Amino acid sequence: MKSTQAIVLGCGYAGMLAATVLSEHFKNVIIIERHPDIFNTPPDTTRMGIPQARHSHVLLSQGQLLINQFMPGILDEIEKNHCPQIDWAADARWHSPFGTYPQYLSDIKTFAFSRYYLDHLMIKRILKLSNVTIITGDVLELSGKKHSSTLDTVKIAISDSNQTQELPADLIVDARGRRSTISATLNQLGFKTPQAMKIANTLGYASRVYQLADQDHKDFKQFYLQVRPGKSKRGVVISPIENQRAFVTLIGLGDAKPPQDTEQFDRFLRSLPHSDLQKFLQHLKPLSDVSLCRNLHNVHYRFGSMKTWPKGLIVIGDATCILNPVYGQGMTVAAKQVLLLKENLPLLFDACTAMTWEKNFQEKIDLLLTTPWSMTTAEDLRSLTAKNLPLKLRIMHKYFDAILKLAAKNQAMHTQLTRVLHMLDKPSVFFKPKTIAKVLIHHIIGKS
Ligand SMILES: Cc1cc2nc3c(=O)[nH]c(=O)nc-3n(C[C@H](O)[C@H](O)[C@H](O)COP(=O)(O)OP(=O)(O)OC[C@H]3O[C@@H](n4cnc5c(N)ncnc54)[C@H](O)[C@@H]3O)c2cc1C
Repeated sequence: MKSTQAIVLGCGYAGMLAATVLSEHFKNVIIIERHPDIFNTPPDTTRMGIPQARHSHVLLSQGQLLINQFMPGILDEIEKNHCPQIDWAADARWHSPFGTYPQYLSDIKTFAFSRYYLDHLMIKRILKLSNVTIITGDVLELSGKKHSSTLDTVKIAISDSNQTQELPADLIVDARGRRSTISATLNQLGFKTPQAMKIANTLGYASRVYQLADQDHKDFKQFYLQVRPGKSKRGVVISPIENQRAFVTLIGLGDAKPPQDTEQFDRFLRSLPHSDLQKFLQHLKPLSDVSLCRNLHNVHYRFGSMKTWPKGLIVIGDATCILNPVYGQGMTVAAKQVLLLKENLPLLFDACTAMTWEKNFQEKIDLLLTTPWSMTTAEDLRSLTAKNLPLKLRIMHKYFDAILKLAAKNQAMHTQLTRVLHMLDKPSVFFKPKTIAKVLIHHIIGKS
């Protein structure tokens, strides 16, 4: 029996995936999106609601498997539309802080595309779902009946009009991304939120779109020069996207943040000390201005740890946890949260589990976030001076450095590392006794 109405706040990555899952359980699903430009068609779009799409966006292998599960056939559509496929060993020239990773044929492959393009394909699918409607408007307020801890109404300001509207909801899903104000709203409503965990960094991105003259460049299709606190302050990612173009995203730490001025951008790019990169640049012609992103901090709202949580509301995607994009995990983590929603939704309609369903769901979200949060923040914590770091973390940093060193020399370790980075395996695979022994032996021999 389908419940009545679910309302998703935000038509971004998490919001669209959640709507597809909710449409199987609710009679109506309404998505509220602040910016009407979501219906624009690429390549000319600039979606105001997702300014991060002006930067390179990699959807990891696990993320690609999941999106194809929620939206069957979307990868075939992407392939038919000539988005390049990347073999993460054969086609990726990756200069790590410990050497260049080996290139060989592997089965870790993903399609490469811009975030705009992906959203465009996703919205087309959403519009085909007969019980899902997108309303363009700004979410103003969430409320419920007086003296009740249930939220069941969303007040919105309808776009391009002076009108507001109150919409009833059996379930509200906040997927408003990093600009969500849900923490403040919960506090106003009397639900005390915990102090958010914040791990800052000094990273800055600057990105520009280029025309790719030779898509079949033989040496590699994707280029990554990694930055590392205390080792190398300047790096770059070059990822091909649809329509024979590529994103060039410059990355800088501290005072080495990349600039917005096009000439200075070009100077930064051409000063990076790798002859393979400089040769590759001959295939690229700039098409756009430079976009900057300076706020790349990690924020975890820890809603799962709240003593009381309103019935009728869940929070997913960047609205619950923002990760520094250094490992490109954001969209894949959002998809994993939507998978959790899919698996848990039947419990919402079960009398035994319905009462505490939302609170339990939020606890499960926090559990799911444990691994990606510790992976990403461990990287940012390297910027702290060594004496400020707990001993356990310092040992972890040393162990992971030893893994990276070995991965630059050993194909099997590189495959394992790539599988972990693509969220196909958990980082716990590195703690199997055989792996620890292999890493330590290589580390000791390398030192002697
Ligand atoms: C520079 C940068 C690079 C990144 N690179 C990668 C990468 O390579 N790979 C990766 O997986 N992730 C990457 N990410 C992270 C990724 O962009 C996010 O994790 C992902 O977009 C989260 O999806 P979401 O649906 O939660 O939020 P979003 O996709 O940001 O969507 C939020 C939506 O909510 C709407 N909204 C906001 N407020 C309101 C309101 N009041 N009313 C109505 N609608 C509203 C917005 O308009 C928007 O459409 C990157 C992030 C940044 C900043």
